[in-house]
Amino acid sequence: MNMTFVLFGATGDLAKRKIFPALFNLFTDNKMPESFSIIGLGRREMAHDVFQKQVEQSIETFSRRKAADRAALDKFLGAFRYSALDVNRPEDYTKLLELVEQREKELNLPQNRMFYLSVGPEFFDVIASNIKASGLGSTSGWKRLIIEKPFGRDLASARELNEKLSKSFTEEEIYRIDHYLGKPMVQNLEVLENANPVLHALWTNRYISNVQITASETVGVEERAGYYDTSGALRDMFQNHMLQLLMMIAMQLPKESNPEDVRNKKRMVMESLRPLQQDDISSQIVLGQYGAGEMNGKPVPGYQDEPGVAPGTQNNTFIAAKLWIDSEFWRGVPFYIRTGKRMAEKSTRIVIEFKDPLDQPLRKVDETAVPNLLVIEIGPKEGITLQLNSKDPKHEGKFEPVYVNCFSSLEDMPEAYENLIHDAMRGDGTFFAHWNEVELSWQWVQPILDAVEKGELPLHTYPAGSYGPKAAFDLLGDHVWWLDNDT
Ligand code: NAD
Repeated sequence: MNMTFVLFGATGDLAKRKIFPALFNLFTDNKMPESFSIIGLGRREMAHDVFQKQVEQSIETFSRRKAADRAALDKFLGAFRYSALDVNRPEDYTKLLELVEQREKELNLPQNRMFYLSVGPEFFDVIASNIKASGLGSTSGWKRLIIEKPFGRDLASARELNEKLSKSFTEEEIYRIDHYLGKPMVQNLEVLENANPVLHALWTNRYISNVQITASETVGVEERAGYYDTSGALRDMFQNHMLQLLMMIAMQLPKESNPEDVRNKKRMVMESLRPLQQDDISSQIVLGQYGAGEMNGKPVPGYQDEPGVAPGTQNNTFIAAKLWIDSEFWRGVPFYIRTGKRMAEKSTRIVIEFKDPLDQPLRKVDETAVPNLLVIEIGPKEGITLQLNSKDPKHEGKFEPVYVNCFSSLEDMPEAYENLIHDAMRGDGTFFAHWNEVELSWQWVQPILDAVEKGELPLHTYPAGSYGPKAAFDLLGDHVWWLDNDT
């Protein structure tokens, strides 16, 4: 798998914070190919050694591993070259092709070329077509394209983008990063269910009462207001990351699965997701926007008062949804999803609540009884907790909850980008978003976008530092959101 890694947007923030450190950590873990060339591209002119210095600084600042010795670091940095490129200038691609070919010759590399577009989505199309037109994409080895969300801003624009990209790359050659799919605990879900007969036996609508998926952030809009104010929680989190988590937890994989199985099963989940009817939208979807509040005892402004946000903006910073999967397996089990900014805790987690084992709800028998919960913590801590009932030794006839849990030590865990770049280099598309999934996700979300556009969905205000608007709690009816401090 010796190859050339061409990075568009190599002077940008994502490259500096995530991509260079990921490549370096793969290198120190001996997961990079034996021989490789990395070519960084940005608008301004820069000498190769100045670029290498920038890469070194990014590793020093952001990498989970530091260089063990100078020689290893120099070997890694020696693979980097830089070329100035304006995405719209065909002659810059010709110059890039010359550099790629020169390095392939010097290092005796096969023509395996990975193109990573760490640039705004408005450039995806022009770059892909120039890769084709310049001959960069005509290789005797493989070529692959890595792109990152947003993949469109609604169903029509996503289809249009895909149509354009497919003129230069086949679906098998496109690796759409959803970095939630690179998180170790998400990659662990299949093993958790299939390698544990205890859980596998209970993994059915006979025993599961409901499934909750939460991704809550404590930060506000930060410096991203320009982008976020036109995107919101619905486009920025829900359509991609949250629905991907839903697919990952709901798919039913055979014991031994391959990437094809994963794609098929994820598609089947999306195809069985009950479409939102016009009349259901307001009873299944809650949108919110944070108002002023307190975080860690300090007052913080509401979204409307954040710098860069349009005056009077109706953008959503929170969404909660109730979804139904009409498959034999999940029929009757509601899936609750919520995500938002400026919430009380930072947590990405999936909670599976099991049904009460008795005919009568257990809590009616004794209000100290709790439901069995399986809590899968995806971030920032990673772990699994099972909530059980035990006899309270001090109070006759009462229960007390006990927790069986394990938390992985976060030290030295591979980051999502490492896992994903490594998979893409090996040609393993298991943990990438296939076009079918992207299209079906937009299709499900489109009625919500339409309702927002027409002003048909109320926007609930919630105080910064809270768990979201009251309407998000009412959405669950008899169920409750299980919060971090419950388990
Ligand atoms: P950035 O603005 O920091 O960097 C953009 C890069 O694009 C720079 O290297 C710049 O030189 C290059 N560029 C811009 N216009 C160009 C042109 N005409 N020709 C050639 N190069 C040009 O952006 P970023 O934060 O690195 O994000 C890159 C992409 O990744 C965006 O689409 C963003 O939405 C996405 N993304 C970023 C993050 C993150 O954490 N920063 C996370 C997820 C997704």
